[in-house]
Amino acid sequence: MVRLEIAGFDTPRRGAVCRDAVTNRHSKIESDIGMNHVAKGMASVQTHHKASGGIGPGSAADDAFQLICPITGLPVRRRAEWQQVTFEPGFRISAEIIGGSILLTHNQGRATLSGVRKAFDFTEALIEKEIGDRPYIHILDYTYLEGTTLEGRRCFIRRMLARDRMAGVIFYGLSPMLRMSTKLGKRLNIIQIDVHIASHYTDAVFMACDLLHKATGLSSSALWPEGTFISQFKARDGSPHIILRREDWGFERGGYGTRLEVVDGHILHSVSRGVLRDQHLPDLIALRDRIYNALAAVHGPLYLIVGARNLQGVERRARKCYIDAISAWHGKVPFEAYIIYGLNQFMAAVASFSKFTLPFKTYVSKDFDDALSLVARKKKTASANGRSDGQPLVKDRKTGDAGGGVEHLMEFIGRIDWERDGLALSEGIHTESPLGPVYDAISVIKSEVDDLLREKIRTEEALRKARDELEARVQERTSELIATNRRLQTEISERRDMEAALRAGQKNYRNLVNSVNSIILRWDAKGRIVFMNPYGLKFFGYEAEALIGKNVVGTIVPESESISKRDLGHLMEAIRNDPDRFRNNENENITRDGRRVWIYWTNRAITDDEGRIAEILSVGNDITGRRHMEAELRRLATTDPLTGAFNRRRFFQKARQEFLRHRRYGHSLAVLLMDMDHFKKINDTHGHPVGDAVLRTFVQTCQSVFRVTDIFGRTGGEEFSAVLPETDAANAARVAERLRERVSNSALEGEDGAPSIRFTVSIGLAGLNENDLTLEAMIRRADQALYTAKRSGRNRVVQA
Ligand code: GH3
Ligand code: MG
Ligand code: MG
Repeated sequence: MVRLEIAGFDTPRRGAVCRDAVTNRHSKIESDIGMNHVAKGMASVQTHHKASGGIGPGSAADDAFQLICPITGLPVRRRAEWQQVTFEPGFRISAEIIGGSILLTHNQGRATLSGVRKAFDFTEALIEKEIGDRPYIHILDYTYLEGTTLEGRRCFIRRMLARDRMAGVIFYGLSPMLRMSTKLGKRLNIIQIDVHIASHYTDAVFMACDLLHKATGLSSSALWPEGTFISQFKARDGSPHIILRREDWGFERGGYGTRLEVVDGHILHSVSRGVLRDQHLPDLIALRDRIYNALAAVHGPLYLIVGARNLQGVERRARKCYIDAISAWHGKVPFEAYIIYGLNQFMAAVASFSKFTLPFKTYVSKDFDDALSLVARKKKTASANGRSDGQPLVKDRKTGDAGGGVEHLMEFIGRIDWERDGLALSEGIHTESPLGPVYDAISVIKSEVDDLLREKIRTEEALRKARDELEARVQERTSELIATNRRLQTEISERRDMEAALRAGQKNYRNLVNSVNSIILRWDAKGRIVFMNPYGLKFFGYEAEALIGKNVVGTIVPESESISKRDLGHLMEAIRNDPDRFRNNENENITRDGRRVWIYWTNRAITDDEGRIAEILSVGNDITGRRHMEAELRRLATTDPLTGAFNRRRFFQKARQEFLRHRRYGHSLAVLLMDMDHFKKINDTHGHPVGDAVLRTFVQTCQSVFRVTDIFGRTGGEEFSAVLPETDAANAARVAERLRERVSNSALEGEDGAPSIRFTVSIGLAGLNENDLTLEAMIRRADQALYTAKRSGRNRVVQA
């Protein structure tokens, strides 16, 4: 089996494989009938050698071979009871089935709801019976359809939608209005069927084969009857043509042969050779009739093209008969033109001459391609004259009063409520008016507008809903935002208050720092002064510029053995390690003019983000007065107010330290106990104040004798004690003797010329020895020595 390759009929790959076989096959035919045109543009040929199993129910043997599709070669089934079936007055349908799977219905007239319903009932029964459960295509020829009511159209769409095995719908012959509305409906997705619009029958059947192929995967070739050949052919002018040929469309007998083929479904092309004689004519005419009758549909005017290149002659008697036969045929089958090519010059001249006498139009062409171009030109002219595919473009209507029609039409248009959903226009339509097509158009437009309106209303509803939802969300969001905003406002105002407070605080702080009667000092880790408040500057006697950046040590802290600039590093370390210890301190500072001042400092380390000491804030107060007072108090607490010598407590405190130290190291130490001689008598004789003066004089004498390292104090009323460090008893005895002597030689000048007062002292002396475990033990021994000194006459030194 060789497959056909026409667009949509099979896959290109398979087609390519088949081409050689096709060409071979075709060459045979060409040689058979002596044609040469086919070699030029032949694409492929299809043959079918066995009876197809693809033909539908009720098929094969009956009339299947009688009718074929002139374009595809597919068998066409057409029954008498399917022809001109009237469903309502003025609405008829003729149906046929192409290739067992394509239903073609020719619709005629004007349909209302009931007509459409009945038509559907009819076609569906037909589909059920003839096509069965295979997928199918429905082609609707609307060339003669004059209109459908709105309800009819709706019913049509509903019924179409209900079809489940239908693989597609193809319309042809649509009025521009219907074409427009179908496209519109398709585009707006109002018609949810696989709808296609074809320009004519040829287009439609190819489309149908395509759709069927897509739906089933089945190649159309499966449906070909035996002995059918189809080829595509491109003429010299580039126009594509389809050639349908059958094995039995020709004969050869008695020196004459002819072959016929159908080109583009409406051109009957015959090629003859040999000599045509009388005897051949009946067969020739019968063959033409048979082919014509087999063609299920000849859409458009029929043309005859006759190839005579290999015709050697026409017998004289046969010539007249031939012309008569063609004329008779023209009477039966009104073909549009008779075109002959391949004539020799003489015959061409004869033909040209005789064409005026013939009842049909006759043309002489150079060759087949020219003949095809001529047909194309003729068809174009016919179409320009208001005919398309031979059919009247404007349907016949009864003529009426055009003026009244327009008036009525305007009134009708005026009544249309375009905004209202689903206006029933059917009652208002004046089908009999000459403006019928306009009413039709308005009806279609209105119906589409209605659909659009419904769609618009649906869309608007959806939009409104979406808007409401959005509104609600916005509301929700807005109230959230308002709440957030309010919180933010509160936060902002709180922050503002805080900032104001801070600013006020800073101002207060500045005021405080500027007016406080304390020194406020900031200095960095290297000891450099960073800041000092006005009070501090005034206190130390500096201008700010003279002080900032200077080191504290050497500027306000006097450099000394205990503190130097170099020590500051250690000081910082110490502060870091033990901040509490350095929180408060008192130290001696120095003013610019060299005055020593005592300041009590409160210090706070200010650390940076990494914990390092960046600065130290020190607040200082002048405590020089207090320090002096304290010193005085300390002095008062440790000295005898009358004589200025250490008091008893202080003496013992110091003496005990010295005793322990000397004893520990085994150094020599001596203790002297001194008691004024007959002091009672001095008091008694001169008065107590003189006694006091004597005591003061005595102390002065003592201080002139003792070294600064000696410890000397008033340990009783007129008793004094001394500890002499690093002094043994012998040396101490010498010191004591010197003292005794100096005292005995001293005198207190009498007042107002009174004689001076003389006095003496007795001294007991003890040197530290191993047995002296305590100071008291030593003193006890010295006391005994003093007692001895008293008893043995006074004014003497006795060593224990
Ligand atoms: P002796 O030589 O034995 O020590 O004789 P004395 O008079 O010094 O005897 P005693 O030591 O008993 O007397 C001490 C006197 O010193 C008693 C007291 O009136 C007097 N006296 C003590 N303290 C003071 C003082 O602060 N001022 C004066 N004027 N007299 C004092
Ligand atoms: Mg005494
Ligand atoms: Mg005494």
